[in-house]
Amino acid sequence: MTKQQQYMKNLNTDQKDAVLHAKGPLLVLAGAGTGKTKVISHRFAYMTGVLKVPPTSILTMTFTNKAANEMKERIERLTGKNTDGLWIGTFHSLSARILRRDIGKLGYESDFCIYDDGDSGHIVRTILKEFKIHEALYRGIFSKISSLKASLVEPDDLLSNEESYGFDEKFARVYVRYQDELKKNNALDFNDLIMLTVKLFEKHPSVLKMYQKEFSHIMIDEFQDTNISQYRLARLLCDKHKNICVVGDDDQSIYKFRGANVGNIRNFKKDFPKVKVINLGQNYRSTQNILNVAGNIITKNTKRMPKELWTERKKGQSVFYCTTINEKEEARYISQAIKELYLKGKYSYGDIGIFYRVNQQSKAIEEVLRENGQHYSILGGANYYHKKEVKDVVSYLKAIANPHDSVSLKSIINCPPRQIGAATVTRVENEARKRDESLYATMKHIIKSNGYTASLKDKVSSFVNIIDDLIAKKRINLQDFLELIYKKTGYLKWIGDEKAKNLDSLMDAAEGKDLSGFVDIAALYSSADETYNNDVVSLMTLHNAKGLEFPVVFIAGIEDGLIPHFHAIKDPEELEEERRLFYVGVTRAQDMLIMSGTKKRKLYTSVQDQQPSRFLSEIPANCYKCIEKRPRADAIASSNVKVPAGRLNKSPFVTGARVKHPKWGVGVVRDTYGETDDVKVTVNFPSVGMKRLSLKFANLEKI
Ligand code: ATP
Ligand code: MG
Repeated sequence: MTKQQQYMKNLNTDQKDAVLHAKGPLLVLAGAGTGKTKVISHRFAYMTGVLKVPPTSILTMTFTNKAANEMKERIERLTGKNTDGLWIGTFHSLSARILRRDIGKLGYESDFCIYDDGDSGHIVRTILKEFKIHEALYRGIFSKISSLKASLVEPDDLLSNEESYGFDEKFARVYVRYQDELKKNNALDFNDLIMLTVKLFEKHPSVLKMYQKEFSHIMIDEFQDTNISQYRLARLLCDKHKNICVVGDDDQSIYKFRGANVGNIRNFKKDFPKVKVINLGQNYRSTQNILNVAGNIITKNTKRMPKELWTERKKGQSVFYCTTINEKEEARYISQAIKELYLKGKYSYGDIGIFYRVNQQSKAIEEVLRENGQHYSILGGANYYHKKEVKDVVSYLKAIANPHDSVSLKSIINCPPRQIGAATVTRVENEARKRDESLYATMKHIIKSNGYTASLKDKVSSFVNIIDDLIAKKRINLQDFLELIYKKTGYLKWIGDEKAKNLDSLMDAAEGKDLSGFVDIAALYSSADETYNNDVVSLMTLHNAKGLEFPVVFIAGIEDGLIPHFHAIKDPEELEEERRLFYVGVTRAQDMLIMSGTKKRKLYTSVQDQQPSRFLSEIPANCYKCIEKRPRADAIASSNVKVPAGRLNKSPFVTGARVKHPKWGVGVVRDTYGETDDVKVTVNFPSVGMKRLSLKFANLEKI
């Protein structure tokens, strides 16, 4: 097979047209799952493999790291060549790369650091405090700054031309100050990365010329979400060769709050009158049932470029919508459904995505997944259980459950500060090494013996006393015990109110558990993180799901106030944006879509009564199946796979049993499941981490 044939294989006629059109501007405007991203990867392979365009001369840009990595993988699979060092990546990372080389020309240092929204938000808040502006205005001010930057309006422009932007002087001062602070910290925020690259090109034509020469071809995925600055960047770069290919879907434009400008698609035809436009109609991703739901959602939007989506795939599984009483039950429902799908054997954890509107929603879901030993990772968000304060409190629990756990003990020995500094810790550690004992045992020895200074004895004994007091009370109710830890150590006071709030969920999770069980779950989870990297359930916000696909998709919180978000409810334009966001979520699903919502939900601090999303009532009822309240999740998995718990208990390989494996040595059983004639166990081996084994084949020995 020639390379050309190889790269055209599995493409439909329209997709082939798009791949072959390598010269001049090209706009692929098409619905979800029609192969737009596929066209980009095949085009890359075709241009480098057949037309012999040097791979370093193609600039390929998208939005998220995950999407960029997927694109790289697809290209590597097609071409059989490594993509390291090529210009394939996110707008932000590629701009950062350009700036590292030449930002000196704009008066910045080339070792600048990059602030995420959390870091920059922190700066804005501090400025507001200083300017005595009410904190409640923070959100609006922060987003105004972002959209000004996305539109390439710098503080100077604002000051010289205040009237036309309609902002008051106070706001302008905040913006000026914010930009100064960033510069003082040698930091750029996400918007700066693009804005300053554009500035670099506009102020230094020689730099621009060099890149125009370097990039003979430019491709942009998810073009509907480009903002003014991103589009300007692309236009500047393609001005010499005009070989620009953009692919997008106006129905999936979901980043208006970051300045995304759907108008870029419409303007594209004006800016490049010779553009070739290709529409793709066939969806290869989803079943007919899923597309029906998607179609019924998006056709309610009034402002859209009409397009038809069709599939050759069968109707497939029904789409489900389940209502539960609260977010905890919703999480349990999702977890149970995952378990059943997993046991059926068709899907692994990596095939499953769980989406939600706001990050907060992940807490309840994470908690239940963790309890049930279902491994997950969060895309684009900090994992709650990796937060320092959560880890600290878990370390206290671990050290109390087993004071000889020196790693946990060391991590809390001076936390909150008790004047046991690094030198003292090293001293105790050296002593422990000499005596071949744990830190705890050594500290006890230090307190009792004569050969140590009074100051060392004092420091050590004040800490050991706290731990011993807690050990003596460790059998009380776990929630009360957590309160006791906080009281005795002064930990909450030390971290402050804001961070203390992060511990609320830990308190909830402790309900009804005993200390050792709880500690075990925590330990299981942290080791799972490393060993299950490739086979984990993916949790993410709907925004982060763009461009991805999963065989099984759960969308949690289909409720008014979440989707549509309460900020959007009164504004028809925002409402259309929320509908697009819902549409994006639904169209990620390949085989199964399971939506859920609750009657009551704890969000932030209060519990609210929730109504089903108004978007649901726009979908004809025969498009999905409703499940009420506490459903049997096996209604979803069509065959009844059940865990024969009674019989399993008779197996010697119960949870907690110690076992020996011929290769991996001794481990502890963490979970047991499956049919009697094919029982599977998850075992934690200190040497290799978690392993899932079938008893039929594993040659496990109970010890
Ligand atoms: P989105 O709008 O969600 O970004 P997209 O238009 O970029 O979607 P892709 O992700 O490229 O779509 O493709 C969707 C799925 O359909 C992928 O699994 C892809 O491999 C598959 N696909 C695309 N075109 C074809 C084809 N011609 N034959 C078979 N499968 C295809
Ligand atoms: Mg895509």
